[in-house]
Amino acid sequence: MTEKQSLLARKKSKIVLLLINPIFNYITWKEEPKIYYYSLHNLIVDRKEKLMAWKEQKSNDLISLMEKINNLAISSNEKLRKILEIQESKLIFINYPRSKEDLQELEKWIRFADQNPPTLLLVHFTEKTKEIFAELKNTSIICPLCERSWKKELTIKAGTFLCPADEISFSQNEIEKFNEHLFTDHTKKNIEIIEYGKKNKYKILQRELSLPTDFESEILQKSLQEQINKI
Ligand SMILES: [Zn+2]
Repeated sequence: MTEKQSLLARKKSKIVLLLINPIFNYITWKEEPKIYYYSLHNLIVDRKEKLMAWKEQKSNDLISLMEKINNLAISSNEKLRKILEIQESKLIFINYPRSKEDLQELEKWIRFADQNPPTLLLVHFTEKTKEIFAELKNTSIICPLCERSWKKELTIKAGTFLCPADEISFSQNEIEKFNEHLFTDHTKKNIEIIEYGKKNKYKILQRELSLPTDFESEILQKSLQEQINKI
């Protein structure tokens, strides 16, 4: 059997691209049968190595470094292909693709693996919950390595941020600059991804955060999980 034929013999999975502002990335995803989650967590070892090397040298700033790391993250290796070969009923990519270009790369692999086109699930806040979002932005900080959202008061001490998950530290000044960049960049690139998705007739679902309780970790996780289960 050729490689292509063996891929054709596989069962198709439903692919969901979950686009969520990193400020809401305080959710802990529960293991669900037949669902495979892909997130930055899958790349953490490699990312940490690059960040630790950078901390020794600091030859460029954190924003430029992270752009470089994020662009290399997945397309340069075989990870995408391997994930698309996983035989689960659903493959959920959390905040991947990061850009329209990533999505185009993913499309190529999806075609190669003879999988169905992905569904885009966009999580966003509404006018009604704008203030809660602003408040979250003031009180939370995103780790450049894992891109998880943490409470500032628990993770920043004496001008230094320490990530509780992967024990890497950054100065408050550099991480705050990085956070500002990440928000702008994430919003801009998500708009491009959604526009591209509309043009290419992808199924696009939206989850509007319209109530204060929508922002609570467990409620948000549960409602997203329910939405994913229906896809
Ligand atoms: Zn982290």
